[in-house]
Amino acid sequence: MTKYIFVTGGVISSLGKGIASASIGKILESRGLKVTIMKCDPYINVDPGTMNPYQHGEVYVTEDGAETDLDLGHYERFVSAQMTKFNNVTTGQVYNAVISRERRGDYLGKTIQVIPHITDEIKERVKKLAQVSAAQVVIVEIGGTVGDIESLPFLEAARQFSLDAGKENVLYIHLTLIPYIKCAGEIKTKPTQHSVGTLREIGIQPDILICRTEKSLSDEVKEKISLFCNVRKEAVIEAKDVDTIYQLPLVFKNQILDEIILSHFHLICKFSDLKEWERLVVERALNPRHKVAIALVGKYISLQDSYKSIYESLTHAGIENDAKVEIKKIDPEDIEKCGPEKLLNDVSGVLVPGGFGYRGIEGKIKAIRFARKNKMPFLGLCLGMQCSVIEFARNACGLKEANSTEFKPKTKYPVISLLEEQKKVRDLGGTMRLGAYPCVVKKNTLASRLYKKYSVLERHRHRYEFNNKYKDLLEKKGMSFSGIYANKDLVEIIEVKDHPYFIAVQFHPEFKSKPDKAHPLFSGFIKAALGSL
Ligand code: GLN
Repeated sequence: MTKYIFVTGGVISSLGKGIASASIGKILESRGLKVTIMKCDPYINVDPGTMNPYQHGEVYVTEDGAETDLDLGHYERFVSAQMTKFNNVTTGQVYNAVISRERRGDYLGKTIQVIPHITDEIKERVKKLAQVSAAQVVIVEIGGTVGDIESLPFLEAARQFSLDAGKENVLYIHLTLIPYIKCAGEIKTKPTQHSVGTLREIGIQPDILICRTEKSLSDEVKEKISLFCNVRKEAVIEAKDVDTIYQLPLVFKNQILDEIILSHFHLICKFSDLKEWERLVVERALNPRHKVAIALVGKYISLQDSYKSIYESLTHAGIENDAKVEIKKIDPEDIEKCGPEKLLNDVSGVLVPGGFGYRGIEGKIKAIRFARKNKMPFLGLCLGMQCSVIEFARNACGLKEANSTEFKPKTKYPVISLLEEQKKVRDLGGTMRLGAYPCVVKKNTLASRLYKKYSVLERHRHRYEFNNKYKDLLEKKGMSFSGIYANKDLVEIIEVKDHPYFIAVQFHPEFKSKPDKAHPLFSGFIKAALGSL
């Protein structure tokens, strides 16, 4: 019988529900259970693919090509399960499905309502995930904060779930904030009491509370929370701020959260201590011997979540190379204004991430030229690869007007352009080249030395491609094409010869990096930036 854990959030948003859910997954997985994690997003978009990163942070792409919430990235970084399109459900998807069924006449004669039709659809999706993943434990993180109008149907579905699956198979965890009021010198439990009160009004009594706090919770405070919220004292878990998110599973483990969950479900599992994780990830992340500064040249730098997986991948590469990676976030428009020399003189590597639209492109191209000319390690991702091609065509091959047709549709030298099949596309949602595609890695290249294999699977999210018409010319001038999607002869990896580390890829390696297994392209990049490749 599958066990279900619903994770809700109270008081404020941004408490780290995604990382908490991922960490719960981690401690249960370490006990030998097969775990998967689902994210329910209350917005009406079918997926976040059509949203600006400032609205929603990064769009995380799964192996099967779903554009999903960035929390799925946390899940994949903490647990071994691979996320799929079944792991992210939005209000938009739920209504879409119910309305299409209504139009087909499947509910003929009935009035379609939030309860039971919308809630049934939500529950069906949770059960479907349990079935396709064959997980023993399905963790369901409900987006938003308790009290929001939008998330009510998801909470109602979560409440009903214990009727369907049986109380002993369902567990409710509420993540909440215990604020510290500086001038009073006190931590306050009232917002948590209210938040749990709101949950109970809709019929959910949390079994476990995870309390985000700056200060440790005294026994007395825990007792108070326990009494007012009707949660056993040992199930009031303290989640004090940590230095690295990868510590959180250890924080939970130390408070025997895994045992509390297992005993609720009457499960007896093998013992585990997370020692490997502690040694390979946490200790290394906390005590690096080296330091290296990397410039990230991107448009969305003011929001921490926009490049989440890239920041995490750099951290992983740092862990693997025993180095703290300091990220200098640079707006490409500032490079356009004051030139790359001033902004890039104090870093050891340049990374240009993915993106859309012309704004900032010329600044990115200037940054790439600077890295290429100065033999500074460079990693380009997706749009970063397209900009590298434009830069090389313009400055090494003399095609001064080289561009992507995304930015200049009638450009004289369309070194990046649309494939025929993309030209017919009208709808923008879910129509890019998405998900994992195999890439053949050429022998005796930097890419093959990094990957140590000749065939890799990497995830995509883009419309435009390298234009093969320019391959020979660019090759003659010193660019090599070290990765190809053989089925369609599409360029996936480019390198520049006579450079210590200049590599750019059409895909997104950041979606496949793990804290205990950095992605080779990131790891090599940091190694090169440290001067030890
Ligand atoms: N805008 C480019 C394209 O659509 C790159 C996309 C990206 O970087 N994810 O091809």
